[in-house]
Amino acid sequence: MNDQAIFQRLLALVEQYYARRKEGKFLEYMEPQALAEVLDLERQAPGDWQQLFDWMEKYLTHSVKTGNSGFLNRMWSGANLPSIMGEIITAVTNTSACTYEAAPVSTLMEHYMLNSMLELVGFEQGEGQMTTGSSNGNMIAMLAARNQVAENIKEKGLVNHPPLVAFVSADAHYSLDKAANILGLGTDNLIKVPVDERGRMRPDSLEQLLQEQQELERQPFFVCATLGTTVRGAYDPLPALLELRNKYGFWLHGDGAWGGAALLDDELRQRYLPGVEQLDSFTWDFHKMPGSNLMCNLLLFNHHKGTLRCACSAGEHSYLFREEHEDAELDTGTASLQCGRRVDSLKWFLDWKYFGKEGLGKRVRHYLELCEYAESRIQSLPRLEMTAFRESFNVCFRFLPPPNHNANDFNLKLRHRLFEEGVTLVGVAFIGEILTLRLLITHPDFSQKDVDSFLQSVIDMGERLLNE
Ligand SMILES: *Cc1c(COP(=O)(O)O)cnc(C)c1O
Repeated sequence: MNDQAIFQRLLALVEQYYARRKEGKFLEYMEPQALAEVLDLERQAPGDWQQLFDWMEKYLTHSVKTGNSGFLNRMWSGANLPSIMGEIITAVTNTSACTYEAAPVSTLMEHYMLNSMLELVGFEQGEGQMTTGSSNGNMIAMLAARNQVAENIKEKGLVNHPPLVAFVSADAHYSLDKAANILGLGTDNLIKVPVDERGRMRPDSLEQLLQEQQELERQPFFVCATLGTTVRGAYDPLPALLELRNKYGFWLHGDGAWGGAALLDDELRQRYLPGVEQLDSFTWDFHKMPGSNLMCNLLLFNHHKGTLRCACSAGEHSYLFREEHEDAELDTGTASLQCGRRVDSLKWFLDWKYFGKEGLGKRVRHYLELCEYAESRIQSLPRLEMTAFRESFNVCFRFLPPPNHNANDFNLKLRHRLFEEGVTLVGVAFIGEILTLRLLITHPDFSQKDVDSFLQSVIDMGERLLNE
């Protein structure tokens, strides 16, 4: 096959997959052993284009169709078409976004987008970078805060300092625990602040813990406010946390991986993110509600330029970064923990230009309206019940089996059966002792009818299980 024939066939395959992603089940489930046999992974194929296409077709056939309305498990689904176009171009051009020299267009697009986001959030003298995801964004924010505790921590390490302690809510994302491990704090020194009955960090508890730690001669340096928790969708109360920040002088970071999307609509911003422009740093995933391809993350600092670079750079790197060049200042690599950096800016730029704040804001409002609708339906259906107050974009609920059943076991089984039969893949999590199903809506064209049929499929499966 020549290149032209290969591209024709490839693009036809892509087009066909995309056109049919909503049809049928989201997955024809196969056990790993059976799937391995179908894939024939040991097979040799030197120079055999036909065989490569065979594997690609199998890949498409047996993958989870994340663009299908049955796929509700994660904080993302499908992807925006402009973003998909960007990813194809990114693959065919294949460069590393670390220097202007090697990635001129991507570099300018990344700066342009980060500046647009600094403006959107309201950070005035800030800077930013795209990272590999909010897990990484959270860690880099903690790293920068750690290095600001004292002049020489970057060079001398933590040995000469009183133990550093950081704080998150009990419902925060696990990436903060990982950051505490990686940065040498120790996971025990990431203190979990109790949450209120809706899953929001309690500022009174935080203040008490801050004082306790100070009395123990430990140094509180970093608090992460979760802005849209992963399970319940709760927003930690920024105004109260900002007040504590001003009193105790820690670095206040906002993990908006999921809930940062509220910035896209002015009313939602006021409701969920009051004071966000005063944070020290903020991270947000555009690959979640806004729908860009994975991974698409931004990390913003509300500090003078150079803080990020100072936190991340180390070692002799003159083979790569030529500081005598006029355009060296534009190089994104020196402010990053990576050496090679995948180009994530093109897809993001295309999405932003095509949909804009208004288009994406509308989408986010639509998601919220559907969540309100789902909640009201669940409350009116006797077989279902809400398991948590709905703060924002997360609908936590469960099937209510008769009292002679263990509700947790029952719902877990129910969820697994829905998956195996390819009906729907819905999230589960624990809230305290209660196992909850978690509906997240991130399909732009999801409708009330889709909500109804999803809830009905949960009820039907639950009733079937009761009759078995
Ligand atoms: C999804 C999520 C993360 C992790 O983001 P990645 O981009 O997957 O690393 C962090 N925090 C919260 C609150 C999240 O919902």
